[in-house]
Amino acid sequence: MAKMLVEKYHSEVPGTVDELVELPGVGRKTANVITSVIFEQPNMAVDTHVFRVSARIGLTTNAKNVLQAEQQLIANIPKELIHKAHHWLILHGRYTCVARRPKCETCGIRPACKFYKTDMKYIVEKA
Ligand code: SF4
Repeated sequence: MAKMLVEKYHSEVPGTVDELVELPGVGRKTANVITSVIFEQPNMAVDTHVFRVSARIGLTTNAKNVLQAEQQLIANIPKELIHKAHHWLILHGRYTCVARRPKCETCGIRPACKFYKTDMKYIVEKA
């Protein structure tokens, strides 16, 4: 990777996903992180938290893989917020909308959450 960075990109980190994924060891998720965090481009890295939380909230629908989730999120989130939304979704999935038992009782977005309306509302209100 270092050789390619020096020889092809003159020791600069390239600024597009297409260029970054050419580097050995760099996948689409990493390229999306680099371009959104460093260059504030409207790219969305989808990890396990982002994939799960987006589906629960209803920001994605029937996404079969991370690429479909990424494309739906890009289409549904205002362009200027996409590079920030990546962090919001990760943190929400890590601390509130956790995998096994989402903390719907304390979740600030439950009025807008598809999963809460369809799967959790009865359970939370009954407790
Ligand atoms: S209401 Fe529950 S399922 Fe929906 S985003 Fe919040 S924690 Fe997740």
